[in-house]
Amino acid sequence: MSNDTNSIDMSSIERRQFDTLIIGAGGGGLRASLQLAEADLSVAVVSKVFPTRSHTVAAQGGMNAALANVSPDNWHWHMFDTVKGGDYLGDQDSIEYMCRAAPKAVYELEHFGVPFSRLDNGKIYQRAFGGQSQNFGGDQAARTCAAADRTGHAILHSLYQQNIRAKTHFFDEYFAVDLLKDDEGRVLGAVVFNIQDGQITVIEAKTTLLATGGAGQLFKTTTNALINTGDGMGMAMRAGIPLQDMEFFQFHPTGIAGRGMLITEGARGEGGYLVNGDGERLMERYAPKAKDLASRDVVSRAIAIEVREGRGCGPNKDHVMLKLDHLGEAVIQKRLPGIRQTCITFLGIDPAEAPIPVFPTAHYTMGGIPTNRYGQVVVPVKDTPEEPVAGLYAAGECACVSVHGGNRLGGNSLLDILVFGRAAANHIIGYLKENKYHRVIDDEVIKKVVEKVNRFDQQGSGDETVAGLRKELKQTMEEHCSVFRNKEILKQGVDKVEQLAQRMKNVKVDDQSFTFNTARVEAFELENLMACALATIHSAYAREESRGAHSRTDFIERDDKSWMRHSLYSFENGLDYKPVRTRPLSVESFPPKPRVY
Ligand SMILES: Cc1cc2nc3c(=O)[nH]c(=O)nc-3n(C[C@H](O)[C@H](O)[C@H](O)COP(=O)(O)OP(=O)(O)OC[C@H]3O[C@@H](n4cnc5c(N)ncnc54)[C@H](O)[C@@H]3O)c2cc1C
Repeated sequence: MSNDTNSIDMSSIERRQFDTLIIGAGGGGLRASLQLAEADLSVAVVSKVFPTRSHTVAAQGGMNAALANVSPDNWHWHMFDTVKGGDYLGDQDSIEYMCRAAPKAVYELEHFGVPFSRLDNGKIYQRAFGGQSQNFGGDQAARTCAAADRTGHAILHSLYQQNIRAKTHFFDEYFAVDLLKDDEGRVLGAVVFNIQDGQITVIEAKTTLLATGGAGQLFKTTTNALINTGDGMGMAMRAGIPLQDMEFFQFHPTGIAGRGMLITEGARGEGGYLVNGDGERLMERYAPKAKDLASRDVVSRAIAIEVREGRGCGPNKDHVMLKLDHLGEAVIQKRLPGIRQTCITFLGIDPAEAPIPVFPTAHYTMGGIPTNRYGQVVVPVKDTPEEPVAGLYAAGECACVSVHGGNRLGGNSLLDILVFGRAAANHIIGYLKENKYHRVIDDEVIKKVVEKVNRFDQQGSGDETVAGLRKELKQTMEEHCSVFRNKEILKQGVDKVEQLAQRMKNVKVDDQSFTFNTARVEAFELENLMACALATIHSAYAREESRGAHSRTDFIERDDKSWMRHSLYSFENGLDYKPVRTRPLSVESFPPKPRVY
């Protein structure tokens, strides 16, 4: 690839046209692409890894739907739990839509070939997960459909096979760098390159859907894969779109201590529980009713407090224990075979015999690219809180629709990606009926974006390394934006992240290296992580209340009067806010109440 930005030869750049472009081949992207391919549209799916290696494959515990196969249930109770779980920051129109669509989403998957675990009567098995209740806060519900503890694996593989059948066009191991946008703000596709040989392709599309997943690599200890670097969120920010609610980042209570691998909440759903260094069942103190199945933010804070107050386990008293051995080997082998194997492989511990050391670990990005329930990316325009960006959609963990509000309930993300992947596709189908033709893209627009693909091979003095900056960023976020936050810690974090973002200007990628293209991918990923980190830490510093996963030791109460609103952070305008959509579609709104479990 040439280093000279002035000599871009348009004839050397491959140009492809599709009705619709999907960036990301996780559950969100593949559910959308399937719907579109089946509507006989030409669909391109770009993924930086082979599709079935997307992070969806790692989902263990399952997906929520009020099927009522194990306990009485209905979508309205599911909706209440989701609104409450999100600490009243979620948009209730989207939440109603998702909870009502859930059973259908499960049956669809079943027909696509997902081998859900079964009850003896042949119905789909459902396990209890955190934050699930019957009758608006009553007894524990069992709402999570699972394929043992390998649910995401089963879903992603089934969706991929269905897409192959439907003739979706895949660009495997291509990296999307930036969106193509015209002067009127319309999104017309993206610039991608082949990671193997660096060849740039301009993909022109009438609509583009971002489905790039979360940004768990912001933190040092995380359950997320190395690929979860918030690329779509970075692309959106560079295209002038703000990120919403980024201060809300979920820390999963049970990552393997010090390493971060996930032990699914399903382990507690099957009857596992947490004990501290004194052998006490610690959750009885923090959530007398729901105990170990309180919402994730509640359980993570409880573990952090136990450790801080000296009641941790191990020589350094820096973790607690998750006990499963009382369940018996047969149950563990049937319902939790994957986590048993993980513990044996990485810890040399068989959970059927001994407890597992655990500690909260970065897990899920509640915030993201703001969308409405049709998957359209929306931005504030003049006096309106949201207007769609023509041609641009987002779905899955990179989007903020917002169904999870301040804290996501376990089992609601697989549901979110499938329901809104499908909803976005349906909206795209309608949009394409009215927007039949490709717009002519000016060569200059393409040149401008293509030039920027070379940005790291040319820039700065080159005395910073990607690996060095990335390590510092992850450490900074871990220390300054973790389970508990306060003004002083966050202010230091803001300053440090700002400095790191400045130092990014001195990163240079060695273009002589034979791993040039992978080095270049890592530089783009770091740039995207920086964008997400800026949005996260600025939004967290500004939000002077505790809500969901955002827990301030200097503002310990939720403050609905001042803060029941979504944050928006952009490079151009810094912080802005917009109201929560509190009106559901057909039922009455759930007004904010104290959140106890
Ligand atoms: C260990 C683990 C367990 C989980 N368990 C559960 C669970 O049991 N239940 C539940 O509801 N949720 C669970 N979650 C959350 C849930 O799995 C994720 O939120 C969800 O799968 C995300 O799906 P997605 O389609 O948005 O993105 P992903 O599956 O993360 O896919 C992102 C896609 O984007 C592509 N991509 C990204 N950047 C680029 C780029 N620049 N260029 C090209 N392609 C790009 C990637 O290649 C990939 O194909 C879990 C998460 C983790 C980490």
